[in-house]
Amino acid sequence: MAKWTGRSKGRKNNVTEFGKEMVRRSKSACELCGESGRSLSVYEVGKTEDEADLERCIHVCDECKNTIKKLNEAGENDLRFLNHAIWSEENTVKAAAIHMISEIEERHSWMDDLIDAVYIDDELEQICERMKH
Ligand SMILES: [Zn+2]
Repeated sequence: MAKWTGRSKGRKNNVTEFGKEMVRRSKSACELCGESGRSLSVYEVGKTEDEADLERCIHVCDECKNTIKKLNEAGENDLRFLNHAIWSEENTVKAAAIHMISEIEERHSWMDDLIDAVYIDDELEQICERMKH
């Protein structure tokens, strides 16, 4: 997973505009764990390309961001946000949760249950594909 860097100027403007949209979409709550009142930042799931792929961006709190940066070091309880994220109305957030579960090496059974429970339609599958490295 790549960190948001905002390299080119065009990209930066793009990101600023998008940042506003993210605030609206997330209603100022972390899209992964659902907590509000935390500082949020935009996180691009998967690889970072010159052109930001806004459909791979989620609005996350610092705590979740730290967890997803080191997914395989995270404890089971740190990953509970997946329970919340996978039921998001936003396909991007859903896809992010699916993507993260697929990246976890030591998967717990409840994570597999989540994947089994969620219905993956074509649109969702496409976003998941784009998140792959
Ligand atoms: Zn969070």
